Amino acid sequence: MKYVVGNLKMNILSPLERDCYFKLFKKEIVGIKFKNTEIVLCPPFVYLEDFVSNLGGKYVRIGAQNVFEERSGSYTGEISPPMIKNLGAEYVIVGHSERRRYFGETNASANLKLKASAKAGLHPVYCVGETQEERDAGLTQNVVNLQIEEGLSDVPSAYLENIILVYEPVWSVGTDVVPTSDEVMEARILIKKILVDKYGAKFAERIKILYGGSVKEKNIERLCLEPGMDGVLVGRESLTPYEFIKLAQIISEK
Ligand code: PEP
Repeated sequence: MKYVVGNLKMNILSPLERDCYFKLFKKEIVGIKFKNTEIVLCPPFVYLEDFVSNLGGKYVRIGAQNVFEERSGSYTGEISPPMIKNLGAEYVIVGHSERRRYFGETNASANLKLKASAKAGLHPVYCVGETQEERDAGLTQNVVNLQIEEGLSDVPSAYLENIILVYEPVWSVGTDVVPTSDEVMEARILIKKILVDKYGAKFAERIKILYGGSVKEKNIERLCLEPGMDGVLVGRESLTPYEFIKLAQIISEK
């Protein structure tokens, strides 16, 4: 199975914009048959239920952009894994670089979120990747290694298959600066190796690895298809249904 995951971030400002998005999305997707490709849209929490009822199941799967690790209780402003799951969403993005950068999230907090989400029956989409400074200092391998080691620490093996990893170099998110196909392939091999060392080849084989960072029609070949990734995490292009669905079509046809 290949994955095309859209992260709508903090966009779509009103019910009017939301409805417009639904209209355009349905217009673009209706009648298209995707082969072996799961399309996932992650809207802001406030629209989760609307996305599930308008696009979920029929056209795409729905996911959240963040989650808190507790089930319920006195955690003002937080959203728990069962809340997301019980609305009909199936995925959740964990450890996105914007959560790490602006909200102080760490590998340790991602670990708690991953475990709680998987336990609730969600598919966590776990983002790893180095910053520009880390890349310049030659630390990419160390950083990614630690993000996987700490992020997946003590995750029961029964949950591992539900986790999707994304190699998302932070310097490529929102910048239109992208790695070469060889660099993405190197990252894929590195992540596979870490997973094989950690869980053995049989388990590692089943974990999907996506690419994220400035994916567009013109570079999807280089960023996903050539390096043999299992799909993409898409930010800006997911805001335009026409562009997003085109990416899904390209992935589905390969
Ligand atoms: C993202 O934020 O996960 C992302 C990939 O964004 P963009 O596609 O806009 O670089």
